[in-house]
Amino acid sequence: MDNICSQRNKEKFCHEGFFLYIFDKKSADGSRKMWRCEHKDYSCRAQIHTDATTGDVLKNLGDHNHDSNAAKIEVVRTVTAVKRRAVDTNEGTAQVINHTVQNLAQAEQGQLPSGHAMKKVVR
Ligand SMILES: [Zn+2]
Repeated sequence: MDNICSQRNKEKFCHEGFFLYIFDKKSADGSRKMWRCEHKDYSCRAQIHTDATTGDVLKNLGDHNHDSNAAKIEVVRTVTAVKRRAVDTNEGTAQVINHTVQNLAQAEQGQLPSGHAMKKVVR
């Protein structure tokens, strides 16, 4: 399962398809990764621990104090997919973006970075 979304060099983890976690630190022995909900700035205390090797979720700590944002996660996934496709193929930037974005629902397209910002992502 492809759980890792990378954005601006920050490693993110999508759990249950709805919540995003930002990598915090590794456990003292290095076997686990600890992740904090991306909304910790809003006092959300939810955290998860994953196996550093397999990426399996080992522990689920705390409850979220906010709703999930499925559309936003889809956007992060899309940006990651655009980057990957740009690397894997020789298609031009506009082509890559069009191909990836056309599969999104309208609401999700509305949340994407502007065309200009997307081109920067690919570069
Ligand atoms: Zn949260």
